[in-house]
Amino acid sequence: MEKRLIKKDALSGIINKLSEQMLVYAPVKDEDNVLFKVLEKGMEPLADYSNTRNAPKNFFFPKTETMMRYMRTERGIELSGEGEGAPEMVLFGVRPCDARSFILLDKVFDQEKYKDPYYIDKREKTTIISLACVHPPYSTCFCTSVGGHPMSSEGADVVLTDLGDKYLAEFVTPKGEKLLEKMGDLSKADDAAEATKEELSKKSEEAITSHVAGREIKPWLDENFEHPFWDTIHQSCLACGTCTYLCPTCHCFDISDEVKGSDGKRIRTWDSCMYWLFTKETSGHNPRTSQKQRWRQRLMHKFKYFVDNFDAIACVGCGRCVMYCPVNIDIRKIVNDISKL
Ligand code: SF4
Ligand code: SF4
Repeated sequence: MEKRLIKKDALSGIINKLSEQMLVYAPVKDEDNVLFKVLEKGMEPLADYSNTRNAPKNFFFPKTETMMRYMRTERGIELSGEGEGAPEMVLFGVRPCDARSFILLDKVFDQEKYKDPYYIDKREKTTIISLACVHPPYSTCFCTSVGGHPMSSEGADVVLTDLGDKYLAEFVTPKGEKLLEKMGDLSKADDAAEATKEELSKKSEEAITSHVAGREIKPWLDENFEHPFWDTIHQSCLACGTCTYLCPTCHCFDISDEVKGSDGKRIRTWDSCMYWLFTKETSGHNPRTSQKQRWRQRLMHKFKYFVDNFDAIACVGCGRCVMYCPVNIDIRKIVNDISKL
């Protein structure tokens, strides 16, 4: 693995140099928010922000995406695609929990049985530079309880660790190493930098104060589809879907056709298991009519079904659903309550 040192005041110039060669998305300040935006000349990429409110999943799995277009003609229906596909792109400044979410999304969209060409095209053409959480930003972070770490490199091609006056840059994949060639001359990392990183890694893990029994509840979930506990968690839920839309690992979608005259397009849009309409079938039957059933599904999907199917929990512990639920439903509490049953 190639390792380099980047002086703090040189980072912005290096990322801007990349943006002259390819499309670069980076976190930038936007009024009270931090958003990933296309980096244009003179824009300052943020390297010391906490995290974005929206997870970066939309780069590979957009909120709305045209899958194909069609036209009714006298010869029948003619199909056409959507242009040439995604451009080469760099996604700079992803936090480790969100970088790890891409590995979980890969399990769904790029698996042996099913390959989603829309997702895979964008994912393959994107190089991800993550920023290690030397100081985990929120009390709601619980990445260490679900298989992650604040300084994990999972899902990243390049990991930057803030060592004070410089960054340690680790080029962890061949894609990352290819990017190194475009970054210009950078000095090699020394043993002292690696030792500092090790020390910071231990401290960052200790700084995570939320501990959730994420891995322990599976046996209970296996046995308790019907249990009075499920009557307790959904009571205040508004079914707004905020938790699922902000979640970096939620990936449910709906497919519909928009037709105007003889032209049509097939589009895919994000959907949410928190919605009544989500499971409504064409016959009118709805197998999940209550919010209780929908909340059970959300929890079961993340901590049981995904584990059964892919041997991983479908939660990276980013804490977004905890922070932004308007009625303060806290998935950490639910999981920990289950662990005591
Ligand atoms: S954010 Fe809260 S209120 Fe909205 S659907 Fe999720 S759990 Fe329910
Ligand atoms: S379930 Fe909540 S904490 Fe877990 S990844 Fe999704 S938004 Fe983050």
